[in-house]
Amino acid sequence: MAKIVLDHVDKAYTSDVKAVNNLSLEIADGEFMVLVGPSGCGKSTALRMIAGLEDITGGEISIGERVVNDLAPKDRDIAMVFQNYALYPHMTVEQNLAFGLQLRGTSKAEIKKRVADAAKMLGLEQFLKRKPANLSGGQRQRVAMGRAIVREPQAFLMDEPLSNLDAKLRVSMRASLNQLHERLGVTTVYVTHDQIEAMTLGDRVCVLREGVLQQVDTPQNLFDSP
Ligand code: ADP
Ligand code: ADP
Repeated sequence: MAKIVLDHVDKAYTSDVKAVNNLSLEIADGEFMVLVGPSGCGKSTALRMIAGLEDITGGEISIGERVVNDLAPKDRDIAMVFQNYALYPHMTVEQNLAFGLQLRGTSKAEIKKRVADAAKMLGLEQFLKRKPANLSGGQRQRVAMGRAIVREPQAFLMDEPLSNLDAKLRVSMRASLNQLHERLGVTTVYVTHDQIEAMTLGDRVCVLREGVLQQVDTPQNLFDSP
């Protein structure tokens, strides 16, 4: 777990338009922070800069005690979850969960333990031998979350992870995400354009518009404010 600090962060893709403009935000250790706003407001860009998938044009980002501006994604000790799952189609669920750890040289015993723990937490135990093609959308997204969990990162970064699911499944996955966060307490930055999702998931919610921070507060305070 680690706090994440954005200090006057800018991102310009072209010389005239700033996708993110002078964004300062402090996400506490263990906090679930939601970035919300309409399409094009810069939330994905902000998340991708924290992940290191996008260079920053100005300012400073730190994760834990380290300034990460010049660190590659793999050196940032974060795990991303995307809306399109990004699973390996030729591997089983178990292999998908284990693969990242194998690459890092984690011991077999440790991999086995972490995969079993994650599968249990996510209700995936009976699907471990299946391939992604034979899973429902919700199950695939659980595998994608499992892959993030087994890494035991300092932070989770999630970009619209529920937006490909139908409405009913989104509601149950929101509950699962809340439980997971309570259980693991890992600092999370979560991007969505869905206000209800933002209000139900966030410890705090950061509202962006045209690359500029409008408000950051608890769902309760945002809801109560005129
Ligand atoms: P959101 O995630 O809120 O939908 P984005 O961060 O994807 O917003 O985009 C913010 C702004 O930056 C938009 O105007 C978008 O068109 C622009 N943008 C995003 N990615 C790129 C890119 N790779 N090249 C140029 N412009 C981009
Ligand atoms: P999201 O809002 O989830 O990022 P988008 O469809 O807006 O999804 O963007 C998909 C990809 O295209 C992202 O990698 C984003 O950086 C890139 N992108 C978005 N807007 C632009 C743009 N105006 N020009 C070039 N690339 C863009």
